[in-house]
Amino acid sequence: MKKLCSLPVAMTFGAGLFAIIWNVAGERIGQWLLPAAQAAGGVVTSPTAAAPDRYAYYPGTEELKPDEIRLIACGTGMPAARRDQAATCWLVELGNGDKFLFDIGTGSMVNVAALMIPYDFLDKVFLSHLHTDHWGDLSTLWAGGWTAGRTRPLKIWGPSGATREMGTAYAVEHFLKAYNWDAQTRNFFLSATPGKIEVKEFDYKAENQIVYQENGATIRAWPAIHAGDGPVSYSLDWNGLKIVIGGDTFPNKWYIKHAANVDVAIHETFHTPEQLFQLYGQSPQQALGVGTAVHTSPQAFGKVMSTIKPRHAIGYHFFNEEDTRYAIYEGIRQVYSGPLSLAVDNMVWNITKDKIKIRMAISPDQAWSVNGPNKPPKPPARGTMPDPMTDAIKAGRWNVQDAQGPMIDAFKKAHGMK
Ligand SMILES: [Zn+2]
Ligand SMILES: [Zn+2]
Repeated sequence: MKKLCSLPVAMTFGAGLFAIIWNVAGERIGQWLLPAAQAAGGVVTSPTAAAPDRYAYYPGTEELKPDEIRLIACGTGMPAARRDQAATCWLVELGNGDKFLFDIGTGSMVNVAALMIPYDFLDKVFLSHLHTDHWGDLSTLWAGGWTAGRTRPLKIWGPSGATREMGTAYAVEHFLKAYNWDAQTRNFFLSATPGKIEVKEFDYKAENQIVYQENGATIRAWPAIHAGDGPVSYSLDWNGLKIVIGGDTFPNKWYIKHAANVDVAIHETFHTPEQLFQLYGQSPQQALGVGTAVHTSPQAFGKVMSTIKPRHAIGYHFFNEEDTRYAIYEGIRQVYSGPLSLAVDNMVWNITKDKIKIRMAISPDQAWSVNGPNKPPKPPARGTMPDPMTDAIKAGRWNVQDAQGPMIDAFKKAHGMK
């Protein structure tokens, strides 16, 4: 009888263990997936076979299971622009088909768009507060989605402010005023409906109030402590799973209470004061104030998480790179030893009651928009919208009919147009 001696080689992936078992002759005879394993590789059985599981999430290739939540970080960085990290944006996709954007920070729409989700499914946005790094890319979702297939108005939920002028409704009303030229010129050619925004403003001071409840999903809000009155944190309950999205906040009693024992707790963890001084050009006084009083330091984040004990903690809101992440990680680990992700853009968490699987999304740099199932609304009939171009400007058109005429004729013929 052939005697096999197993020499397991274990490597850690996420919070789990993946072990490959070899025999004495060096042949691979099997593998173990220890219960906590996050992303299994498995065995490629022949030179022409596909890998049985993939470490990456390829958007548009994987159906969401009915009991599953997919959370995607579409922005995890700072107000200053960086190609590698957009500002705050979280996409939450539920197994019942609902999708919610929590914040839509500057630069984040390139990551959202690369997921190739029809714009009609991206019509619900929840704003934590009105700093540009949390809503600066609304223009891109609004106008880009309008031109690329959204058939109905955008819906935005957000907090009131201490005065009307500090609230979400005021901000969106004036956003639309600022983009009046954009809207008027599009309205002439496109249906005006997808260019509308419906705002649902709620009281920023109310604790754990329900701000959305449909289809088995409940979203609640409570005050956050950040920069001024108005910011909030959100929780999302669905199918016995709960995610908390902190927004920007100093550690506070409401988060501690309402995020206790949740499945996934997202909370900011900021740069260390030393990093703000060395890398962000702040004075020592400013760095200390911003890093420990306006925002949440790594140590304070650790205390929050070791108190609320989530199944999984996610820290973000810092430029995550070789030069920064270890000091932030060490600061957190002085106080918290539980499951943790320090988020970067395009990180993906698949969340079920049994498992939280963490991968990176691999999405195309040159994604096109994808149509959804709804028929696009009809463009306005001629003469029903004011023409935004006067005859004086139109009279300056130069004749290019000889150059483009044959191409236009061929196109019309190909598409049965008169
Ligand atoms: Zn902020
Ligand atoms: Zn922020």
